[in-house]
Amino acid sequence: MKQKEIRKVLVVNSGSSSLKYQLFDMKSETRLAKGLVERIGCGGPKDHAAALAQVVADLGDAAKGIDAIGHRILHGGEVFTDSALMTKANMAKAKKLVKFGPLHMPANLGGIEACEKIFKGVPNVGVFDTAFHIATMPDCAGMYAIDPKYYKKMGIRKYGFHGTSHKFITQAAAKFLKKPVSRVNLVTCHLGNGSSLAAIKNGGVVDTSMGLTPLAGMVMGTRCGDIDAAAVLAIMEAEKRTPAEMDTILNKKSGLLALAGSSDCRDICAKAEKGDKAAELALEMLAYRVALYIGAYNTVIGGADAIVMTGGIGENSKEVRERIIRRLGALGIKLDPKANQVRGELKVISARGSKIPVVIIPTNEELMIARDTVKVLSK
Ligand code: ADP
Repeated sequence: MKQKEIRKVLVVNSGSSSLKYQLFDMKSETRLAKGLVERIGCGGPKDHAAALAQVVADLGDAAKGIDAIGHRILHGGEVFTDSALMTKANMAKAKKLVKFGPLHMPANLGGIEACEKIFKGVPNVGVFDTAFHIATMPDCAGMYAIDPKYYKKMGIRKYGFHGTSHKFITQAAAKFLKKPVSRVNLVTCHLGNGSSLAAIKNGGVVDTSMGLTPLAGMVMGTRCGDIDAAAVLAIMEAEKRTPAEMDTILNKKSGLLALAGSSDCRDICAKAEKGDKAAELALEMLAYRVALYIGAYNTVIGGADAIVMTGGIGENSKEVRERIIRRLGALGIKLDPKANQVRGELKVISARGSKIPVVIIPTNEELMIARDTVKVLSK
């Protein structure tokens, strides 16, 4: 029997109180519609099923003939090393991973259950933020140097996040460099409100900067990134903080916000421009850490074919890019200041004589989810 062509794909990002969606025609990879339902369970629709009913109403005729639905899911643990059809068995496996994302996972999985009700008979595919990393990351990068019982009992290890974005820009960079994905070596930098870097060897992740949770690695909008665990213990002890309070401090009240009064990189750049010392230091800390990881990851992959930048900051902030690239002279990387003026488009921003090109590639996680949805159902 000939397989049904998967053409019209709905992409759903179901959060705790909001639901974002995009509808694609995958024959031409064009977006037909996009939207957002907010205040789910707090003034707006009562639950995710009600939110989806609103999506159907908003889409009108466009909601007819949807062939498949792709869902963004925060955490796939070590179970999901690729996107997967969310059968009953896979839903049961995913539910066991709620402990890794108690806030996001119930909403992500709730979105799938709501789709099963509203779009009867339409297949749901899960696309996991961790899968691209966990599929290929070696243990020497993925394990923490603590008693292995914590890994065995609790799954404490590095998983990494933003995998869908790193995968999208890896594929786009390979195409741009005219290399097969399986032979491309990259350092991919997703710099946004949350930021992560990945070391890509032969098209797969060999290391990434986020860890068990998205708290590790870069200096972010409100997250501290890398910190000595003993510093966390010292604060808990001195201020008699509970783990939950400490979680809020490190995830929501640190990073650029704590250092310079705003989590928004544009505000920090504007303040630094006016001579604000705290903002200046915050930007230098952010850029320093990105450069530090680029150097390390370039070594790990045996030399990058390109450094790729994406995300709200990577795509738009010439100031931050300049501060990062200024630090990469030892790799023979040179900036082209004129090309660096670019915003939100694919462009090489390194100078002609640069030993490694630096390329801006706008990410498109929703399209990546739609592509994976088609791929899973075409198997
Ligand atoms: P999220 O991680 O929430 O998806 P984004 O990728 O949208 O976030 O990135 C948001 C960040 O991008 C914010 O810090 C914002 O200030 C920054 N940003 C967006 N446009 C610019 C710009 N023109 N200059 C500097 N920073 C920018």
